[in-house]
Amino acid sequence: MAKHQLKFWGARGSLPCSGPQYVRYGGSTCCVELRYDEHTLIFDAGSGIRGLGEDLVHNRTGHIDLMFSHYHFDHICGLPFFAPFYHPQTDVCLWAGQSNEWPGVADMLDGFMKPPFFPITPAAFNAQIGFRSFHAGDELTLPSGAKIQTAPLDHPQGSIGYRIEIGGKIICYVTDTELPENSKPDPSLFDLVQGADILILDAMFTDDELPSCRGWGHSSWRQGTEFADAANVGTLYLFHHHPLHDDTAMDKIAADADKLRPGTKVAREGETISF
Ligand SMILES: [Zn+2]
Ligand SMILES: [Zn+2]
Repeated sequence: MAKHQLKFWGARGSLPCSGPQYVRYGGSTCCVELRYDEHTLIFDAGSGIRGLGEDLVHNRTGHIDLMFSHYHFDHICGLPFFAPFYHPQTDVCLWAGQSNEWPGVADMLDGFMKPPFFPITPAAFNAQIGFRSFHAGDELTLPSGAKIQTAPLDHPQGSIGYRIEIGGKIICYVTDTELPENSKPDPSLFDLVQGADILILDAMFTDDELPSCRGWGHSSWRQGTEFADAANVGTLYLFHHHPLHDDTAMDKIAADADKLRPGTKVAREGETISF
């Protein structure tokens, strides 16, 4: 029986979207859960984390590690709606990189959850909440003993990519990054994803959209396939979908990407990978 599970609770980028044209790929923003043994590791707190929080409080309690790629709104907007924060049996550790352009993770939470942006403050939380800061490039050790490598990403105000090995599988979470035109990024990012079994990668744009969006900090799915090939990646999951890409548009991207790099997947909200 599979012991470990990766689940997409939100795969959309920039802004949540809803409606009948978004039902198959989903409209919640970035949130990915890695459940290994009895441990819970979460990447980003976009609107998708609301559903994950409900699942956690009904089915599991205990320690949760939550890693932020960065603090853009689509990656933090679900935080006030994360049910474990309101349960005293839970302890949550929030991990985020330090930068001159970013506040510490506790200051981010205090600055975001307060009037006039939000009616209540983190004082309403009942869980035990810990904060851990690090620098992009550091190797982190989780309370479970698992090690995580990190690398800086090319994105306005920066972002951080993660690599973790669980159950013999290397999983990389690399979102909000602008690959260069030749799809050959900084060596630190190349090293981070080299040989990964699963790479979850920012692939917000099509090649047609890319030229007018240079400097916005995102990549095209075609660049993603080239990068995955060059870094000897197993399965590439295209992620951080554009809010304008409805199910019909995503079907075309999925078909085109699979043709260019067979086996490439488009992340769908609710999709689970067991291993
Ligand atoms: Zn984003
Ligand atoms: Zn961003």
